[in-house]
Amino acid sequence: MALYPWQQQAWQQLNLSRQQWPHAVLLSGPQGTGKLDFALQLAQSLLCETPHADYAPCGSCPSCTWFAAGTHPDFREITPRSDDDKEDEKPDSKKRVVQQINIKQVRELTDFVNLSSHRQGYRVTLLHPAEVLNHAAANALLKTLEEPAPGAIFILITHQLSRVLPTIRSRCRLFPLPTPDQTQAAAWLAQQQVADAPRWLARAGNLPLAAKALADNEHLPAWQTLLEALAAPRGFDVLKQAEALHKLELPMVVSWLQKWAYDLLSLKLAKQVRYHPDLQSALQQQAQKLPLDGLLAWQKQLNLAQRSAHHPLNTKLAIEQLLIGYTDL
Ligand SMILES: [Zn+2]
Repeated sequence: MALYPWQQQAWQQLNLSRQQWPHAVLLSGPQGTGKLDFALQLAQSLLCETPHADYAPCGSCPSCTWFAAGTHPDFREITPRSDDDKEDEKPDSKKRVVQQINIKQVRELTDFVNLSSHRQGYRVTLLHPAEVLNHAAANALLKTLEEPAPGAIFILITHQLSRVLPTIRSRCRLFPLPTPDQTQAAAWLAQQQVADAPRWLARAGNLPLAAKALADNEHLPAWQTLLEALAAPRGFDVLKQAEALHKLELPMVVSWLQKWAYDLLSLKLAKQVRYHPDLQSALQQQAQKLPLDGLLAWQKQLNLAQRSAHHPLNTKLAIEQLLIGYTDL
């Protein structure tokens, strides 16, 4: 695994601290720019027994071999887990996906953090994204960050720094990771042999990894159908669209609608499109027809829906309401 071209300088800069490595770093930046790969490279490098002069991991020592296999005894990765315990209590209740890092996960770390390492080096914990630590978990983690055991190292990642609890932030060394400019992003996508790269880059708001994920997304036909419906001058059949979309992840569907709303407003207010440059003329027609206050209200409706999209009561109904919000404009 290599760093992305736009991360080289950040890598050098962060590694200037190698002699006095902070026990916790918090890497921040927008989602879809490669922060996780940077963090994994850093973790592997800290554990590597014979790193290169630029601190790139050697890739061949026992430590690197374990790391690549996902079995390094001195590495832990903590990511959101759905709350299984609650489901057990109410087996009949609707499945609720809780996207958070809970206290049980942080407690499970205690032994790992406090025991001595298997390889006489660091013990590295990678935790991401830090903004979904729930309150109890954050408090438990704070104790560990305040009194770090010798050799215990934390790497935290956040897509939204403002949502990370200040108490956690203040105990970490903050390190913002760069977002590539359009040229770097387009060059990288072309290297990945993504067909129609400029289109996906625009759809992803110029974030290259997000663009690649979009281009590889199996639900592209559904998105395309939705866009055609939204662009249709005479409206569309809401129930049919909702039926076609309701088995997909609601946050994804809402994000498609949010991008459409963003471009309509952006055209109205600034005569620019961001996400759908290939659909500019259809957007233009809609933007002229639709009232500004109505569009702003629809955008607000979408933003509210996105906030509760991880635990919808009824996905089909939620999508219907959002589409009616649009057709009623
Ligand atoms: Zn190595």
